[in-house]
Amino acid sequence: MLPRVIQQVSQFQKGVSMSSISRATFDEVMVPNYSPMQMVPVKGKGSRVWDSEGREYVDLAGGIAVNALGHCHPEMINALTEQANKLWHMSNVYTNEPALKLAQKLIDNTFAEKVFFANSGGEANEAAFKLARRYASDNFGPEKNEIVAFYKGFHGRTLFTVSVGGQEKYTQGFEPLPGGIKHVEFNNIEALKEVVSDKTCAIVMEPMQGEGGIIVPDNEFIKQARELCDKHNALLVFDEVQSGMGRTGKLYAYMHTGVTPDILSTAKSLGGGFPIGAMLTTEKVAKSFVVGTHGSTYGGNPLGCAVAERVFDIINQPEVLKGVEEKHEYIKQKLLAINEKYNVFSEIRGKGLLMGAALNDSYEGKARDFMNATLENGALVLMAGPSVLRMAPSLLISNEEIDEGLAALEKGVQKVVGQ
Ligand SMILES: *Cc1c(COP(=O)(O)O)cnc(C)c1O
Repeated sequence: MLPRVIQQVSQFQKGVSMSSISRATFDEVMVPNYSPMQMVPVKGKGSRVWDSEGREYVDLAGGIAVNALGHCHPEMINALTEQANKLWHMSNVYTNEPALKLAQKLIDNTFAEKVFFANSGGEANEAAFKLARRYASDNFGPEKNEIVAFYKGFHGRTLFTVSVGGQEKYTQGFEPLPGGIKHVEFNNIEALKEVVSDKTCAIVMEPMQGEGGIIVPDNEFIKQARELCDKHNALLVFDEVQSGMGRTGKLYAYMHTGVTPDILSTAKSLGGGFPIGAMLTTEKVAKSFVVGTHGSTYGGNPLGCAVAERVFDIINQPEVLKGVEEKHEYIKQKLLAINEKYNVFSEIRGKGLLMGAALNDSYEGKARDFMNATLENGALVLMAGPSVLRMAPSLLISNEEIDEGLAALEKGVQKVVGQ
C-alpha cells in the first residue's frame, strides 16, 4: 500500500498521460471484443463527423441506425440539458413525468396499450422473451415454453437474446444455453409450420432482418406467421430495435405489413443516441408482468425518456417519414448508377433508410474492404455480414450530403475494383 499522498500523485500522473490517448490506447486498455476503425471521431453535427486529426466525413452509418436525427440535434440537446437541470434519476420506486409522457406517445401511435422501459435493445428483448414465457405459463401452463425464431436473426448479446438469435458465432463457447428455443429458415413458411405447435409460446422475428443482411421477408410470410400464432395461442414478437422509429418510412415496420404483433421491442433510434429501449405490448399480455416479476434500475430514467420524447415528436411527422421514403429512392438510384459503372452489387435492398447493397459473387466477403476504402475517401458506411454494405443514415440527411457520401463510396468502390 502506498501512502495516500503518493497514490494521489500517481492518479494525477495518470490523468496527465490521458492527453496522449489515441487509437493505439484502445489495444492497451480495452477488452478486445471490438476492432474499431483507426480514425477516432471526436465531434459530430447533423450528418457530418470529424476525427481527432480534423478530417471531415459524411455519416451514412448513423451509429448503426441509432442517430436518427444526426449528431447533436439542437432539440435533443435542449431536451437533455433541460432535463439534466431538473432530475436525473429516481429509480422505479417512483415514476417520473418524462417516462409517462413517452409511454403515452408510444401508445397513442402504435398497437400498444402498455410499455416497459429498458436501456437497450437487448434488454427490451430480454423483457419481451421473458414476458412471452410468463404469459404462456400463466395462461396455458409451463409446458408451453418454446420460442421459435429464425436463422440470421439478431436480438442482442445477453445469453437469452443470443440464444434466440440465429447466428451460431454469437453463442459459441457460452454454453450451456437456455433451452426451449428452435430456429428455422427466415421467410420460409413451410419450415415455420413444421416447428410451430401448441408448445410454442412465441414466434420471434425482425420484420426486416438487419444484422442478418438487410432481408425483407414476403408480406405473406409475416401474415401466415400471425395466423400460426393465432392458431396455437402463441404470441407474435417483433424485434423492431433496428427497423423501428421511422427507419423504414413508417413509425414501425409492422405498419407496412397489415400485421400487428403482440409484443414489440424498440431501441436504437428511439433515443437518437441516448441509451433507451422499450417493450410495447397489449393490456392482456402485460398482465403477466405483475409487481416484482421484472425490472431495471435505469429503465425509464428521466434523461433517456426526455430525449426520446423529443426525438419521437420530430420523427413522427408525415413530412419526415415521407422524406425517408424519398431519400431511399434517391440513394437507390445513385447506387444503381455506381453499379452500372463498376458492376459490384447483385442487389440494392431494404426499406426507407435501412439499406443494403449486396456484393455480387466476384466481391463476396469483401464488404470490409469497401467500407474501409469508403472511409478513406470521407464517408462512413456499415456492413451487414461479410458481403453486404449497409447504410442507416440520419433520417434528416440532405440530398447534398447523400451526394457527397455516395461520391466517397464511389471512390471507395473504384479503389477496391482497381486492386
Ligand atoms: C441492435 C439490435 C439489438 C440489440 O440492441 P442493443 O441496444 O445493442 O442491446 C437487438 N435487435 C436488433 C434487431 C438489433 O438490430
